[in-house]
Amino acid sequence: MVEIEKYNLTEEEEKKLILREYRSLLRALKLRLKKGDKKLVRRAFEIAADAHQHMRRKSGEPYILHPLAVAKIVVEEISLGVTSVICALLHDTVEDTEVTLKEIEMEFGNTTAKIIEGLTKISTVVESKNTTQQAENFKKILLTLADDPRVILIKIADRLHNMRTLVSMSREKQLKISSETTYLYAPLANRLGLYEIKSELEDLALKYTETEVYDEIVDKLKNTRRERTRYINEFIKPIKEELEKNHFDFEITGRPKSIHSILHKIRSKHVTFEEVYDLFAIRIILKTNAEKEDCWKVFSIVTDLYTYSKDRLRDWISTPKSNGYEALHTTVMGPAGRWVEVQIRTERMNEIAEKGLAAHWKYKEGNAGQESKLDEWLKHIKELLQNPESNALDFIQDIKSDIFLDEIYVYTPQGDMRILPSGATALDFAFDIHSELGKNCIGAKVNYKLVPLSHPLKNADQIEIITSKKQKPHEDWLKFVKTAKAKSRIKYYLKEEKRVIAQDGKVILFKKLENLKIPTTTAVINDIASNYKFQSPLDLYYAIAIGSFETKALSSIKYLNDKVIFVVEEKKEPIKELLSTEDAKEIPGKGYELILFGESSDKIMYKLANCCQPIPGDDVFGFVTSGEGLKIHRTNCPNAASLLANYGHRVVKAKWAKNKEISFLTGVKINGIDDVGVINKITNVVSGELKMNMRSMSIDSSDGVFEGTIMVFVNHKEELDVLCKRLEELEGINKVLRLDSN
Ligand code: MN
Repeated sequence: MVEIEKYNLTEEEEKKLILREYRSLLRALKLRLKKGDKKLVRRAFEIAADAHQHMRRKSGEPYILHPLAVAKIVVEEISLGVTSVICALLHDTVEDTEVTLKEIEMEFGNTTAKIIEGLTKISTVVESKNTTQQAENFKKILLTLADDPRVILIKIADRLHNMRTLVSMSREKQLKISSETTYLYAPLANRLGLYEIKSELEDLALKYTETEVYDEIVDKLKNTRRERTRYINEFIKPIKEELEKNHFDFEITGRPKSIHSILHKIRSKHVTFEEVYDLFAIRIILKTNAEKEDCWKVFSIVTDLYTYSKDRLRDWISTPKSNGYEALHTTVMGPAGRWVEVQIRTERMNEIAEKGLAAHWKYKEGNAGQESKLDEWLKHIKELLQNPESNALDFIQDIKSDIFLDEIYVYTPQGDMRILPSGATALDFAFDIHSELGKNCIGAKVNYKLVPLSHPLKNADQIEIITSKKQKPHEDWLKFVKTAKAKSRIKYYLKEEKRVIAQDGKVILFKKLENLKIPTTTAVINDIASNYKFQSPLDLYYAIAIGSFETKALSSIKYLNDKVIFVVEEKKEPIKELLSTEDAKEIPGKGYELILFGESSDKIMYKLANCCQPIPGDDVFGFVTSGEGLKIHRTNCPNAASLLANYGHRVVKAKWAKNKEISFLTGVKINGIDDVGVINKITNVVSGELKMNMRSMSIDSSDGVFEGTIMVFVNHKEELDVLCKRLEELEGINKVLRLDSN
């Protein structure tokens, strides 16, 4: 409703609204404004307002309200400063309007221009549907992240505002934007420590992708709110009293968890909404300088009042998560025997939890140790991106575990801590320390006990790696390592080794092709590789080198009009023959087929297309497929039109030769009234009267009606036509149809 009201605003009212939003942005930014900043922000606003002047959002609002809202999110919810606000205001100008990067650079300097360039790059690649492109996007986004994290932070703000206003988009756009948000932006927000934004993004995406489920949980949360509030108050009361008695400066709240996380619980634990015990968490936020000490004091107060579960204590104060998150989490038994999660943190920790990376920078000086962990992660991403071996899809697969999984903390024999994704193995640890250590790893000692490479590590394990100079990376290793670093290094070593061996295969293949007088062009090699289902020429060379593929198989290849044509030997299917000219050659024995095309008189093997199952007598054409050689289709095949229209150059003329020796399997579908003896009548026609060779017959009958399929061998289409006609004449049979496909 609000949207419609805005749409009806007069020009004057619209101007007022825009100015009001601009002033509110300035107010939010006030504490960060240094001398001269205000003028710059004003200039950015003017340029953006001017550039977007005639544009409107889908909701009907003036477009400039979007960059203004993004700028406000950037300040209020991500805690970024003036430069980021300027970039947020201008973030859509270079892509959508006349404004150029040059102008921005002249006006605001190099840093601002660089950030906007990054933002423009991301949005131009995000228009894509398939996974490869999405992966490519992800890679690009991470690349900008490594350049200047502000790019991705502003991009997340942009996405958050788009998600908040998604209601006015088309259904198709809603789905596309929502799935991209779940796939990319929510995990990134999480990785950068923006928990609040991550939850909101996930919930909004859920609202559009699984509306019913979302509404149901929202409803149930609403219906149980009173009961929940009463319970929370009862739970909090004694804690509050005790904290006050001890003169703590604190805030205590009980808030429901996100819809997304509740749904995740329901699905992963196979429970109902009513059975999810932690619908909410209690959060205690302390104002104190003695952070660690006071958090533990509060922990002790809480656990004096309620029994806590020993295996549900998480100490992220002594060892913060690598995205910077710090807090104590514990789960205690509350009134009426219900488990309740309690989170204890200081104001500073809370700001980091809500505003992530940027808040982190703010406290940089005071806490150098954690800053470096975040930097370490960014450095790690950079390293992975620089690895030229990894394509985007592999990359995303590899890095997924680093981004999505929980973390564990393990130690070297010297007591240095390393953070790994949960599920990481001894081998991951070895690669984490050093690539050479990983490469030569033969086993490990975890807490002084000998374990295999694949041993999964647990929190607080101490690991000593055992190596041997003779060890080499194995393909199997990829099955159990979890970290991107280990995966990409192992792949790299394997590829290196493979490349050396493959050289021999390449030599063998080229010799063979020269003998066959087939040019060794890239196109030919690619065709051969893909025909035999190798992923790349390298795989083909390698297979030849190790003897798992024999070049003998290539002897029957034909090279016609710059096309490689593969002969397919079909042993199961009966044989058929096609000729285009009168001078039919001798059939070279059973198991082979002979077919002539156009002007050439070469013998070539072919396959009958499954979609229309042609037999001699049918009007047919040949189609050169990329992996399965030549296929014969009926001209009235359901796929014919599209094949002819789109791949005209791959179509070859073909017609049948007469040959009574060879028979073809074909089939008919019949239906009719079920009556005693109908099967008998059918078999009489097929085997008795027409003397056809029947391969199978199946009849299904229900409620007096039957449907059946008969498979027979024929020499020519005429025979099939006779069969159909005779069957149709039988009493009780309603319809006889030729079978198009299996
Ligand atoms: Mn935007």
